[in-house]
Parts: sequence; structure tokens; C-alpha cells
Amino acid sequence: MVLMEKPIVSVAHDENIKNAVIKCLDSINLPDLNDKTILLKPNVGREAGSLLGINTNSEVVKVVFNYLKERFKARFLIGDSPIINTDTKKAFEQSGYSLLLKEEGLEFIDLDEPNPIEIDIPQGTVLKNIKLTGYLNEIDYLISIPVLKMHMHCGASLGFKNLKGLIYKREKTRLHHLQNPEAIEELKKKNKKIKELDVAIADLARVIKPDLVVIDGSYAMEGMGPSSGDQVRLDTIIASTHPIAADIVALALVQPDWNLSDVPHVEIISSRLNPSITSVKDIMTIPSDIQNFIHPIEPPPTTITIKYKNVHLVDVDSCSACLSTIFNLLKNNKDLIDTLFTTKSPLRLAIGKGIKDSDLYEDTYLIGNCTAMHKGKGCCFIKGCTPVESSIVKAIYDNVKLRKKKD
Ligand code: SF4
Repeated sequence: MVLMEKPIVSVAHDENIKNAVIKCLDSINLPDLNDKTILLKPNVGREAGSLLGINTNSEVVKVVFNYLKERFKARFLIGDSPIINTDTKKAFEQSGYSLLLKEEGLEFIDLDEPNPIEIDIPQGTVLKNIKLTGYLNEIDYLISIPVLKMHMHCGASLGFKNLKGLIYKREKTRLHHLQNPEAIEELKKKNKKIKELDVAIADLARVIKPDLVVIDGSYAMEGMGPSSGDQVRLDTIIASTHPIAADIVALALVQPDWNLSDVPHVEIISSRLNPSITSVKDIMTIPSDIQNFIHPIEPPPTTITIKYKNVHLVDVDSCSACLSTIFNLLKNNKDLIDTLFTTKSPLRLAIGKGIKDSDLYEDTYLIGNCTAMHKGKGCCFIKGCTPVESSIVKAIYDNVKLRKKKD
């Protein structure tokens, strides 16, 4: 693809987020969407409260819907496919979408409901085919409406990362198990941070891309995203019909010291363009000066042992579902953990398909089905995909009790 002109991205900041969305959309040249089927795809990946920066703010989606409905006679769908073991409707309701789902002219769809469609990705580096939502064939215009958040595995979660919700059910976890060591080694020569997951998201972008991205920075998530970071109010919206440009501008606003290598999937996708976009300088923003919108937020930590000195987590290629369980476990059981474990004798946890025997101690808890092959090592294996927080707490408690009895 040869880009003749700079891609356009609009940015707006307003305490009334409705005004910010409208201002952004007013600056964008939308195509004729009459008689089209439009999917509004917010990020509603988890059963979580509203405005926490975990799921997209329903108010932002509502304004996008009403804006388009006033201008086009179209069929409007709204849906997502959340992380495994999560009920789609409940996730929408819990995160503040109940009223919006009752709006006339808006159809709620559970993207996991119909049989999937299977798509080949012949040029994919690690992802050669993928099962996507069966609704895809019905959709003429895809609007990605992600919440702006930091992400422990991917650097940040924005317009393209949000498309993971179009992947059918458990197929999502396959993105964490793909391997092509030779190709990854080659890519790592350019960017040490690249992992299979980043390449898989970039491979997915070869077959699907949003027609419009509206990034919800009303309440963003800083730090330990995608679900255990802190909410930060930015009152900002970023929108574009050029999806990767929207992601790059969002990053420039919240991580001004980063370059694209800090979010490898964005770097890979943008490097495929001709000419490629390497920074916000290659983009035309509206307004042209976006300095006033810059609001640096806490980046994702590289290791959680910085925050919890009595916890050692070995995480090699886990997925965010497992990582979220661990974060919630630590958050919800801090007192118990502080009573039972110290810096010298920490709680050792291991998650992810990439852990090795050499990563494990005899008191390591192996968490999730991905660690099953190491069952003999460590002190305890807790099954599940995703493993349940209460089972992990019980296993820790029982094991500590047993150890004390033996002592
Ligand atoms: S066991 Fe954990 S890391 Fe492995 S696929 Fe399941 S949720 Fe993801």
C-alpha cells in the first residue's frame, strides 16, 4: 500500500466526553454508511465495573452510535467476545452497558454465538490461520472502540489489540502458544522485546483491520494493565480511519518517551506501510499541535516483584487471563500473603507455557494448565484455564498449613 498523504488523526479533550467524541468525529471524513451493517466493537473483555479503565466507557460507545445513527440509515451491531470463562452479556451489563443495549436500533450480539469462520493467513509469520466470529461475513464497517490501556505483555492495548475480541472463543489463547523460533530470533535482532504474541497480533492485522478507530481515553488504565492497573482520567478521545495512526498518536500522548519498539505489534504493522509510519511526525493531527493533550501515565511494570517484594512470579509466555488471575489474587489476598510470606521466604508462583524446570523451586506453585508438564517440580499444581483464584488461595493455605505441621 502506498500512502500519498499523511494519515489524519483527530484528538479532542473535554471534561464532557460526549463533546470530545463529537469533536473528533466531526473532523473525520466518513464514507456513506447508508444500508451498511456496522459493528461497534468496544473492548468489553472482562466482567468488571464501569469507568475503571478495564473496559470501554459505555458513554463513548453511545455517542459514537448516536452520531452515526443521526447521519446514516444503517444496521448497528454491538458486541465482543471476552476472555475465556467470561459471559459476554454479563460483562456488558456489569461495565455499564445495560441502558445502551436497550437503545432502539442497536442489536447486541455475542460474537461467540454463531459458528466461526476460518481464515487462512498465508503470509503470517506465526499465525497461519485463524477462527474468527461467524458474524464477520455480515459486517460492512468495523469500528474498533478500545479503552486506552497499558498492557504487561504487549506494551499497550489500543485499536488493533482490541481486534483480539473478534477471535472465536478459546482460539484466543492459541495466540499465546504459537511458535516459530527462527523467525522470532530474526525479529529479536531488531527489537529484543518482540514475542510470539506481538507477531500473532500483527499477523491477524493482515486479514482484518478496523475501518474506524475511536480510542477511549476518558478513563484509561496505567501500570499493570490489562486489568490490574490503576484508572486514570484523561478526558481524551483519539479517532481516525487510519487505525495504526490512531494507535501511534495515542501512544505519543501517554508515553511520550517511548518509540514504537515499546509496542512491538504496532511497530510491525506500521513497518509494513509504504512509506511506513515511524512516529507522530508522519501523521497529520487535528489539531496540528497536540502538546496540550500529552498526559504521561505509568508504563506497565516489567516485573511484579518490584511491587510485591514477598512474591516471586515466573511468567513466561502466559496470557493475560492467567496474569489477571494472579494480579487479582495478590490484590485481594495481600494481608494473607503478607502473613504467610516474607522477602526471604517469598510466595513463588509460575505461569505460562514457556517456563522451564530450571525456573522452579521446590516451593513454587504451578498455576494453570500450561504448567502441567512440570507437575513433578514445585510444591503444587493448580489446574484450570483460566485457573480459579479461590482454588489458588486454598492450595496456598493448605500447603503452608501442611508445611507448618511437618516443621
Ligand atoms: S493456563 Fe493460563 S496461560 Fe495457559 S492458556 Fe490457560 S489462561 Fe492462558
